Amino acid sequence: MRLALVAVLLLAAALIFAAFAWADPWPANELGRLMILEYHKVDYPEERWTRTPENFRRDLETLYTRGYRLQSLNALLDGRITVPAGTAPVVLTFDDSSPGQFRFVETEGGLEIDPKCAVGILEAFLREKPDFGRAATFYVLPGASKPNRLFDQPEYEAQKLQYLVSDGFEIGNHTLWHANLGKYPEPVVRDQIARAEVWIHRYIPQYRIRTLALPHGVYPKQVAWALHGTAGGTTYEYDAILEVGGGPAPSPFAQTFDPTHLPRIQAIESELQHWLAHFDHTPGARFVSDGDAATVTIPAGARGRLRPTLPPGVKVVERD
Ligand SMILES: [Zn+2]
Repeated sequence: MRLALVAVLLLAAALIFAAFAWADPWPANELGRLMILEYHKVDYPEERWTRTPENFRRDLETLYTRGYRLQSLNALLDGRITVPAGTAPVVLTFDDSSPGQFRFVETEGGLEIDPKCAVGILEAFLREKPDFGRAATFYVLPGASKPNRLFDQPEYEAQKLQYLVSDGFEIGNHTLWHANLGKYPEPVVRDQIARAEVWIHRYIPQYRIRTLALPHGVYPKQVAWALHGTAGGTTYEYDAILEVGGGPAPSPFAQTFDPTHLPRIQAIESELQHWLAHFDHTPGARFVSDGDAATVTIPAGARGRLRPTLPPGVKVVERD
């Protein structure tokens, strides 16, 4: 009897060892590409611009088990990759501040985050898997009509924005009411951007909004109008502009990295499957962290693909 138990334990140990031995850690490649995922509605039913709560939860599980970890977009723009060694950074973005992204529900115990909204699902997942990281950027519409105005609960607008920025998430500008910036002259473009900042800052006055997501992915006639300027006494300056599509983004250390044209992947079933399979089949194309924000680890002989100027203090290491 005891012998049988020992045999079972030995077998289990051998299986665990084998599982580790098969799962080779990914070698660091900080010149690889990474996914910036773009969610719209989290609601029912699943549609072109809607992911169901269940499917969103499944996306998080899929990303987690496949070795992806949440990366803050602002830190990425600073060249500060914060995910652990051997994992791939993934950025979550949510456009249009629709109600299913962040909803409060009144319960007997007080105000709670709806467990079926994106923030609720994300928070629950992070309690289970704290090593997934904590990051997501919300591109909000402070002046849109219902239901897209700051998640559609006027009484909780302030609380939601304050919650997001104090809880490790980021807020981005998506214009005042989703204006197609390609259609308007310079003053209107600038007014849409500056006024969105003013309206967001009513609730989070100290918060620096660093990124802009283009409504419909459409640039104004001149990129500079969106990047920086002053309108109505408000000065704005962005470190990055996000597009609506375009596939995986280049590494922030790569020559091809252009923060004014950051591509995203739409988080719908077909796109997710496509790009997850792409990186499974071409693992060398994937950004894999070395776990050290002070070094940039690149494949041997790849120095020519680096940006001419890297963030200050960063050391380049060529992998053998
Ligand atoms: Zn939008």
